[in-house]
Order: sequence, then C-alpha cells, then structure tokens
Amino acid sequence: MTDLAEEALNLIQSHRQGILQSELWKQLNIDSRKCSRIVKRLLDAGQIERIEFRNEGIKTYLLRAKKKAADPSLILAGCEILPCIRCELECIPEECPLLLDWIYQLALEEYEE
Ligand code: SF4
Repeated sequence: MTDLAEEALNLIQSHRQGILQSELWKQLNIDSRKCSRIVKRLLDAGQIERIEFRNEGIKTYLLRAKKKAADPSLILAGCEILPCIRCELECIPEECPLLLDWIYQLALEEYEE
C-alpha cells in the first residue's frame, strides 16, 4: 500500500460514521481523480465500503472502513475480557476504573510471562 493510500485509509478509519469522498481528497490535498484511484484500490482490497450519498444535490460517496473481526488475544488480559466490549457507560477512558483495572491485569500477565 502506498503512503497516500495508507493515509487515506487512516483518515477513513478515524471517522467512525464515515467520510465523504469529496471531503477526503480535500483533506489529503490531492485532486479528485487521484482520490478516486486510491478509493478504488481500497475498495478492491476490501478495506472500505462506499455508499452513494447526495450532498446539497451533488452525488458523492460516503466512505467507511470495513470492520475486521477482533483478534481475541487483543481483548483479553489473562481471562479478563476488555471492559469496553458491550460497555454502555459514558466514556472517559482517562478516568475509567474498569479500563485501568484491565490494563493493570494485562501488565501483570506480561510481567508473569
Ligand atoms: S473506557 Fe470504561 S467507560 Fe469507556 S468504554 Fe471502556 S469500560 Fe466503558
């Protein structure tokens, strides 16, 4: 993947609700044709999905990153599952005691190995 395609993918992934293609090329500071080629590459690689979208009557596309199945090893600290899975609390990660406990557990697991 080229640096620009990777940058585009990162940008798309950072917008959970998706980003308009017409916005993507502006943010990447490239022209729309070049952006279309990058988008096609990401679509062909199955990394994003594209949904037709009308913005003030003009046809464009909403681009969204495809979700990948989580690697179970990334959400487990020993037998403790990441508390964010199915969490419905108002989220302030920096102040979350559940997350802090989980990270502590993860650190203990790493230390014991
Ligand atoms: S950081 Fe805490 S509040 Fe936020 S989703 Fe995770 S468990 Fe829930």
